Amino acid sequence: MPSPESVPSRPNAGSITDRLVAANERYASAFTDPGMDARPVLKVAVVACMDARIDLHAALGLHLGDCHTIRNAGGVVTDDTIRSLTISQRALGTESVVLIHHTGCGLQSLTEDFRTDLEREVGQRPTWAVESFTDAEQDVRQSINRVRTSPFLPHTGDVRGFVFDVRTGRLREITAAPGGTNRTSHREP
Ligand SMILES: [Zn+2]
Repeated sequence: MPSPESVPSRPNAGSITDRLVAANERYASAFTDPGMDARPVLKVAVVACMDARIDLHAALGLHLGDCHTIRNAGGVVTDDTIRSLTISQRALGTESVVLIHHTGCGLQSLTEDFRTDLEREVGQRPTWAVESFTDAEQDVRQSINRVRTSPFLPHTGDVRGFVFDVRTGRLREITAAPGGTNRTSHREP
């Protein structure tokens, strides 16, 4: 039995996006303005992988308005992640950062060959690194270090990292290597 929030059936529903838009019509019809400020109530920003199996709000007991959610492939800390965190902290008042990688991440099966193959196929080298990793735990440490050493972030005292187990739903905390900025990424300029 589908919940009211789930995608409704609609005759002649076309693309997936059409289905989402139809679902939004239902959502909006029951929506009331929560009157919230844009500043997250819990003053926390969560950086996580875009993986479809992670329901961040449910997994962390978060509610609407509680946090900033910054997601990308791998939940890695790229320049654009730092951009979002900088705006989150300097303009919207967050002070804590939670970093979440997970078991079975798609980035663990990729290498920087992905870029090379892409360049060969399309004739243009992407400006971004794939940020692939084999060891999620080590990549969490690197992500913690990237946040802690960013000159743009005023709040780096409460930065913690975790690996989410997609089979158990449980978080495992990863502690940063002492004094380390030991990086194993294939990040390139
Ligand atoms: Zn992932």
